[in-house]
Amino acid sequence: MTRFNTQLVHGLPVNDNTTGAVNPPIYNSSTYAFESVESMPRWDYARSGNPTRDFLERQIAQLEHGTRGFAFASGLAAIHAVLSIFKPGDRIVVGSNVYGGTYSQFNEHFTRWGLVSQPVDTNDYEALEAAISGVGVAGDEDGASEPAKAVYFETLTNPLLQVNDVAAIARIAHKYGAIVIVDNTFVTPYLQQPLDLGADIVLHSATKYLAGHSDVIAGLAVVRDDKLGERVYYAQNRLGGILPPAESDSVRRGIQTLGLRIERQQSNAVAIANWLLDNPLVATVHYPGVEGGRQPGDTEKGLKGFGGVLGFEVVKGIDPAEILDNLHLFRLAVSLGAVESLAELPCRMTHFELPREERLKVGITDELIRLSIGIEDVNDLIEDLDQAFAVAAKAAQPQLAETVQ
Ligand SMILES: *Cc1c(COP(=O)(O)O)cnc(C)c1O
Repeated sequence: MTRFNTQLVHGLPVNDNTTGAVNPPIYNSSTYAFESVESMPRWDYARSGNPTRDFLERQIAQLEHGTRGFAFASGLAAIHAVLSIFKPGDRIVVGSNVYGGTYSQFNEHFTRWGLVSQPVDTNDYEALEAAISGVGVAGDEDGASEPAKAVYFETLTNPLLQVNDVAAIARIAHKYGAIVIVDNTFVTPYLQQPLDLGADIVLHSATKYLAGHSDVIAGLAVVRDDKLGERVYYAQNRLGGILPPAESDSVRRGIQTLGLRIERQQSNAVAIANWLLDNPLVATVHYPGVEGGRQPGDTEKGLKGFGGVLGFEVVKGIDPAEILDNLHLFRLAVSLGAVESLAELPCRMTHFELPREERLKVGITDELIRLSIGIEDVNDLIEDLDQAFAVAAKAAQPQLAETVQ
């Protein structure tokens, strides 16, 4: 068996044509001919299966150490398909700090179909166990109901970069027979393979690190066993949110350079986090990859690194919008994980769907800025931040402007 970095480049061998092409072809065919009415061809109709998509699905299953992968038209389509394997009345314990679109899919869409979602701080193992076991679930007179059917969380949360310990959470969940679903978007199999740590299903917005160039919307799911595979395949084929062939190929190509990109994004992120920690206009830095930016225990939770996204809060008196509006190299945009650096204000841009009260409760303040660090020269990125901070300091009270002199 080849090693991970080789697998990124080559995937699994395919010999499905005689041209010698080193890349798998993009099959733009919605339908496939039968040899006879009696035949059962491997490919018949491209919603059910397409060789270009199949290559990507086997590629991600290999990298995540799962039995089967599935490619969807977006990360949210992948999440939708996975959550639709449950039935009305099923209770799912959800990390209290998940992606905004996921939060709204749980709370606005799936609640209408009878799924019960229960938010919990996944770093509070007592609260987590109580929630999964069903002891003390509100509305239940004798204080106990059925255990949850699943627990859903993100390894690194967005935008505060809290680290969830997959192995510890899976251990608790499996005591009660709950399925463990991990959104591994911020981490990628390069930094952690959740199935090895006890997860049952891994999800990706492949739009982010896996594709890596801000040029495609895609989602992936990988399962640990065939039984779950059957259920997710049914949802993929019958709900129909599949990834088209050209987009499947974009994600396949992106994955080839994943290791190189993450290494650079990560070393840039470490340098920028340290620069922010030394900046008197910065109140807090959220990045577990550096000493001043992590919580106790973060480095013992099974991650090989912490990727290229970081958050920070400016001190009171500095307007975060003033910084963001004056960046030139960083683009002011949502999304993350691509070759170019992006900056955004979560309270206005990515997390506006969360009611303000709930947003503040989970720590997403009005002063919080999120950066997604790209592969540029880190000195250019720091110079860009430096000049934007100077503009913001000038616009603030005079005494703050003096602090930066
Ligand atoms: C972006 C994102 C999603 C949604 O993926 P889309 O490809 O935009 O549909 C889900 N989870 C996380 C953690 C994300 O960052």
